[in-house]
Amino acid sequence: MPFSKLGLLEPILRVVDAVHYKTPTPVQEQAIPLILEGDDLIARAQTGTGKTAAFALPILQRLNFVETDPEPGSPLVLVLVPTRELAQQVADTFEEFERHLPRSIGVATVIGGEDILDQLRRLEQGVDVVVATPGRLLELVRSEKIFFEALRYFVIDEADRLLALGFAEELGQILEVLPIVRQTLLFSATYPQKVVSLTEQIMQNPVVVNA
Ligand code: AMP
Repeated sequence: MPFSKLGLLEPILRVVDAVHYKTPTPVQEQAIPLILEGDDLIARAQTGTGKTAAFALPILQRLNFVETDPEPGSPLVLVLVPTRELAQQVADTFEEFERHLPRSIGVATVIGGEDILDQLRRLEQGVDVVVATPGRLLELVRSEKIFFEALRYFVIDEADRLLALGFAEELGQILEVLPIVRQTLLFSATYPQKVVSLTEQIMQNPVVVNA
């Protein structure tokens, strides 16, 4: 199925063209229409399957053409990932797409091992998308440097790795400061009991896709 049949608007299709994606990958084909509908989603997808674009494209469509932003500068999207490298990749993908769109979307990475002051300065400028690893994010939440009142989308990427690395407690504490009304999207290569329990706790009637 072509990208044009997934519910993406013309400006987003131009982004897809600009980054030279010809046809959607299976996870994109299944996930994009559901995310645009507003469903909570569980996607079983490995790295390299195009899962980043599967959530970044519909989220950017909504941020550009649907969402109003009642609190400019306060994050609308949180992507939680297990590693710094993945955080950087996800942030780069959002930035690469955002360049081709009308609304300027600020993206911040909040990751351990890098200067916290630089990250704070970036947040103070006002950002729409935060891509974070759990430890550093929780540090900023606890010191009240980051607030999620306006959050609309919570993405958990590589959920199985996050839990395998022992981040369940951090994840629980992060969830406490997120609005209950939000869209939650969870991506995981495997689906062990720990991930199943997590989805049962934090998602509302999720749709499951296997790619
Ligand atoms: P990911 O699984 O998100 O890490 O993506 C893996 C790689 O696939 C990245 O380099 C993307 O730029 C690329 N990619 C994602 N979607 C497509 C697509 N529909 N066609 C071609 N390449 C893609």
